[in-house]
Formats: sequence, C-alpha cells, structure tokens
Amino acid sequence: MKAAIVTHDHQVSVEDKRLRELQYGEALLTMECCGVCHTDLHVKNGDFGDKTGVILGHEGIGIVSKLGQGVKSLKIGDRVSVAWFYQGCGHCEYCNTGRETLCRSVKNAGYTVDGGMAEQCIVHADYAVKVPDGLDSAAASSITCAGVTTYKGLKVSDIRPGEWIAIFGLGGLGNLALQYAKNVFNAKVIAVDINEQQLDLARSMGADIVINSRDQDAQAIIQEKCGGAHAALVTAVAKSAFHSAVFSVRAGAKVVAIGLPPESMALDIPRLVLDGIQVVGSLVGTRKDLAEAFQFAAEGKVTPKVALRPIEEINTIFEEMQAGKISGRMVINFKK
Ligand SMILES: [Zn+2]
Ligand SMILES: [Zn+2]
Repeated sequence: MKAAIVTHDHQVSVEDKRLRELQYGEALLTMECCGVCHTDLHVKNGDFGDKTGVILGHEGIGIVSKLGQGVKSLKIGDRVSVAWFYQGCGHCEYCNTGRETLCRSVKNAGYTVDGGMAEQCIVHADYAVKVPDGLDSAAASSITCAGVTTYKGLKVSDIRPGEWIAIFGLGGLGNLALQYAKNVFNAKVIAVDINEQQLDLARSMGADIVINSRDQDAQAIIQEKCGGAHAALVTAVAKSAFHSAVFSVRAGAKVVAIGLPPESMALDIPRLVLDGIQVVGSLVGTRKDLAEAFQFAAEGKVTPKVALRPIEEINTIFEEMQAGKISGRMVINFKK
C-alpha cells in the first residue's frame, strides 16, 4: 500500500509499505482521506526531533476492514478517525480523570506511531472514534484535528450563551472556532486578525465584531464596545495576539491558548491578580470531545472548508503551506 513517509532530508516520499500484523485490540482501516496539518510540516521538518521513516497523518478517516483479537468496540465497515491523540495508557491520573490528552505515555498518530496518510492504517479500536452518518469524510478529517481542538478550547473557556468571545486568528483553526462559538455555544463573536481576507470570511460567517489588528487597537475597541470579552481564544501563531488577548477580556475571564508559536509570553502580574484573569492552554480533545465535535458537524452547525488532493502532491502541499498560500484544509484522497 502507498504511504507518505518522512525521509532523513525532511521531505516526504510516497512509498509502497507493508504494515505489520494486527495485535490484540487493534483494527485495520482502509483509509478514505487524511488532512494535511501544520503539525505534519513540523514533524517532517524534524522540529520535534528526527522522525525519519514514520508515516505522517493525524487527520485520517478510514473504514474498518479487519479486526484483531479482542476488539469489541468496532465492527467491519465502521467509519472511524485516526487522531493526534492516538492512544493513552488508560491507567494514569490523567487517563482516569477525563484528561486523557495529557497522559504522559500518550501515543500520537503520524509522530510516535504510523499515521493515517496512507492507503491503510492500524488503530487501537478503543481509541478510534466513530464518524456519524451524514458527515462527509473530508469534512470529518478536518474536525478530527482543527475542529475538536477549537471545540474543546471553547469548552475550556467556559463561554455561555449570549456572552462575548474574542477569537484571535481566523485561519484554519479560528474559522472553525467561530462556527462552534456561534452555532453551538450561542456566543457573540469578536474576530481579530491581520488578514483582511480571513476577516471577510469571518464576516460572512456571522462574526458580530470584526477587527483588523494591523491598523486597529483590538483591545481598546473590545473594551469600548462590549466592556471586555467574557473569554478569549487565541489560535494565532503570533506572540502579540496572546498579549492583546489578556487585555481584551473583562475581569474574571479566561484566555485560552490553542495556537502554538514556539515563544514565551510576558504576563502582567497586577492584571492577573487584580482582575482575576486566567490564562490556560488547551490541547486537542478527548475521544468524547471528538464524538461531540463530529455530531455538531453532522448536524450542519459547522462546515470545514476542504479541498481533495492526490497523495503524489504531498510535497507541493507542504511548499504551499510554508508559503502561506493555503486557505481551508488540503485533504489527501485515498478513495479510488
Ligand atoms: Zn492536525
Ligand atoms: Zn495515561
């Protein structure tokens, strides 16, 4: 079967690979599609350590074609996900308290284990989340990463119906965050970005206030127009957005970080203490979060923007990604 494999010179080669036999509790998937994520770019570039030989992909959707011994949670023909959260240990304090993505022995698809950017993929049956009927596989692939990450981030923000949430960064993550915030959490959305094209898209999707922070003072406008947001979600990969978010919220609010610039941020301590501001990180989502995120998308409340591409174009896609030319999600199509 064909697979997108990381090479020692930080490229991806499409090679013929034979997967190992299934072990206890595992299932084999015939892949339908797999999204290409910024994280894949970091993995193949060796930014998180050398990953030569690994099959990329953590936004995979496939059909169960074979079951290993002991599998009770899946049957042949089920359509399921291959997510970044591939498997937890199942017995640590995080796994046992609804915080399994923080498991210290976590396995990640397309990083610590072979991922879903291939014609076939092995999953742990109990960790593969079923995709509901009525949700297209390419759309589901986007929910598997960007969708669940933003949905979980909004849960962490404690935003409630009718409240204001400021979303910093309206790209691939922010665009889905906006849809979940408006259509699932019933919040009012302030969209902040420096890219006018992304802001136009945010406007068309119903953002209540739109701010171009390249030439406008986002925090001043948000404080003036709604007395500070009740929460902020930062998807941007610029440190300035994190700083601005802390001053855009009202007292007692949470600032949730899901964007991942490899930098540190300075925090104004009086602002945190006197105004009771919480700054918290949120990482992907649990299996339950993903099942919920899938269901809302299947109900038409959230629609990812995707384009199908053949696996042979994988290096071109990474070049486009690096040049910032991609809007929406590029999804490798494995369906014949
Ligand atoms: Zn991803
Ligand atoms: Zn664990």
